[in-house]
Amino acid sequence: MTRDCSRLKFIAAFFFFSWRAFLERLGIRYDIAEIANAYYREAFARIPAADKAVILPHCLIGNPCKARFSKEDGVLCLRCKNCRCGEISLLCEARGWQFYISPSSGFTKRLVQRKGIRAAVGGACAFEIEKGIRSTPITIQGVRLKKNKVIPQVVLAARYDCLENDIDWEGLKGIILAGQAADR
Ligand code: SF4
Repeated sequence: MTRDCSRLKFIAAFFFFSWRAFLERLGIRYDIAEIANAYYREAFARIPAADKAVILPHCLIGNPCKARFSKEDGVLCLRCKNCRCGEISLLCEARGWQFYISPSSGFTKRLVQRKGIRAAVGGACAFEIEKGIRSTPITIQGVRLKKNKVIPQVVLAARYDCLENDIDWEGLKGIILAGQAADR
């Protein structure tokens, strides 16, 4: 696919996302995360490792979870193996990436600015993605957060459930391993 074609597909996917229920009734389905990830992939890989982060939503943490919460850094994962967040935290450390578990989208936006994050892999449900599209400028150069521009990669959460959720963990690991062109 040419760059122009990929850009057009990307713009159309975001423009029509809030109409997806109507489109599905017409038999038109598409995966917005897959389209956005493909579009941003090369730009994401070019960002240096130290400026990259995985930011997971707190709905993915295990139950029980003994991690403390820090106002500065979110949920401080102990890598206890009661959920797969610990494994992702370890993988990020090995790659020199930052890793956070965030309690809310507002916290995530402030975190990105405080930590100087330029590229982020996030997990989000369709509801949060739609909310993000309405409230945050998503451009062909990245997601704009005040003065910062962040290149995203997204893994869609299994459902809209703020307490117990799931994502494609292998897919998430694949994105981390693929996004390391500038890591060395
Ligand atoms: S691995 Fe981390 S986030 Fe998951 S339950 Fe353990 S301390 Fe909590």
